[in-house]
Amino acid sequence: MLDEFIHEPRIAYFSMEIALRSEIPTYAGGLGILAGDTLRSATDLGLPMVAVSLISRAGYFRQTLDHEGTQQELAATWTPQRWAQPLDAKIAVRIEERTVWICAWLYVLEGSMGGRQPVLLLDTDLEENTPQDREITHYLYGGDNIYRLKQEIVLGLGGARLLQATGFSIRHFHMNEGHSALLGLELMRRYTYSTEDLRPGESPYNFPRVREMCSFTTHTPVEAGHDRFSYDLIRRVLDNGFDLEIIRRLAGEESLNMTRLALSLSEYVNGVARKHAEVSNAMFPGYLVHAITNGVHPYTWTAESFRQIYDHYVPGWCHEPQLLIRADCCIPDAAIWQAHVQAKQQLIDTVFSMTGVTLQAQMPIIGFARRMTAYKRPDFLFSDLERLKGIAGKYPFQIVLAGKAHPKDEVGKQMIMQLHRHARALADNITVVYLPDYDMALAQTLTAGSDVWLNTPLPPLEASGTSGMKAAFNGVPNLSVLDGWWIEGCIEGVTGWAINDAAGLADGSAHMLYDKLEKVVLPLYYDQSDGGWIRLMKGAISKNASYFNSHRMMRRYATEAYGG
Ligand SMILES: *Cc1c(COP(=O)(O)O)cnc(C)c1O
Repeated sequence: MLDEFIHEPRIAYFSMEIALRSEIPTYAGGLGILAGDTLRSATDLGLPMVAVSLISRAGYFRQTLDHEGTQQELAATWTPQRWAQPLDAKIAVRIEERTVWICAWLYVLEGSMGGRQPVLLLDTDLEENTPQDREITHYLYGGDNIYRLKQEIVLGLGGARLLQATGFSIRHFHMNEGHSALLGLELMRRYTYSTEDLRPGESPYNFPRVREMCSFTTHTPVEAGHDRFSYDLIRRVLDNGFDLEIIRRLAGEESLNMTRLALSLSEYVNGVARKHAEVSNAMFPGYLVHAITNGVHPYTWTAESFRQIYDHYVPGWCHEPQLLIRADCCIPDAAIWQAHVQAKQQLIDTVFSMTGVTLQAQMPIIGFARRMTAYKRPDFLFSDLERLKGIAGKYPFQIVLAGKAHPKDEVGKQMIMQLHRHARALADNITVVYLPDYDMALAQTLTAGSDVWLNTPLPPLEASGTSGMKAAFNGVPNLSVLDGWWIEGCIEGVTGWAINDAAGLADGSAHMLYDKLEKVVLPLYYDQSDGGWIRLMKGAISKNASYFNSHRMMRRYATEAYGG
């Protein structure tokens, strides 16, 4: 079953979450989408990879919302047998001094251009394990800190061992976020100096060898995004074959910081946008953090109507999305507008079938959808309802929202309820809908069918952001706070608009957003006489989509991170 994949050395890509397809709920948000797009691009480019993740049988969760916006979380249980094949190999790790057996499912990702890549989904739901251990791979980002550590042992140590047991030859390991950093310990165990070469007291581990095999991508400047485990916990849970003194030196004196461990064991480290690399360098002095700005997978995030016009006017765009740089000159305005009208109609149909609300095709739709969490400031647009009504009185618009809050993120859940209250308060003036259960499919429909894609994070906390790039592939201009990728992507009035200059960030006031909407964005939308709006749509395609795609990103990883 694996023969087609193990004949050549591959890059092993480790990620706690991965968005393989909408029906497989093994992802929670941007990190998983990025992992999926990474693999999809590697597939199109013929770069041999193997992805390693958890089976997450109960998924992240399915979100339902009542009238008040109260979030309910339902298990998103899926059936691995439907999509993946069980592999024979089984390996074990030690957890709390028990043996925990791990097997894997093989999912084959089939690219839009004929390529195939293997994904190993690790699973502890085996008869040999205790009932508790069988659930280690059930809940994505579920449970407490101990549960998380167990998952990370399975992912890092288990993943590395399973690759070996299944016959993969790995030429490089890429850790997507720190969750998988324990794989470095497994590599340390593999690469040691022979004892006769060592002087007394010298470490037996061949760190240069381990480091040259590893790359690490850090994804968040939010402190809570970096896993830490107390050494007390480590002593109880992790295999006691590892020398804690050495781990302390690599991962931090007070607690085991997974980001530090990954930093210490990787030759190549990067952040996901230039600004994020800068912030990360300040957060982790002593390490060199490069910048590889994220991208999104061209085919996956482009609506059918746009795929067709790109196929016609920019043939080859699926392999070389940089060709879209020609889009502004080569594609007739009418074709762009027609494609957009179709994508917008799809969104309108989706909104109707999900909520019973009919949006107006002639009226602009402002889209905002992402994880609902404090730093993303989903309520920013609603800071001053009277002002918002005033703007809508002059230039009517509609708002579509979506996003899940992590089950333990009380603030995020409150925000969803708050957004529902705003929607009710605005009901007579502005149609605001909140679509439940944001997922890959909904993200595609929303980013393609909106007229303006809004993002209002609190700088510098948006490491990159990718939904705005999806919008760009569909000719949807971004209106966004300058943070993450938008610092690189925004050309004012050409690809979209900035809400602030970098200095005016944190004042919490939304007047810059309101001014932009009222004086620039909406008037331009309503004055379509000189083609200004379509010029902007083309700017988004030719200057954003041509660059902020995961093919460019992977070509950089391949040459700069994996090449060494
Ligand atoms: C693209 C995507 C995200 C990431 O959106 P950001 O704007 O980068 O936060 C999150 N969830 C889903 C389902 C997505 O498709």
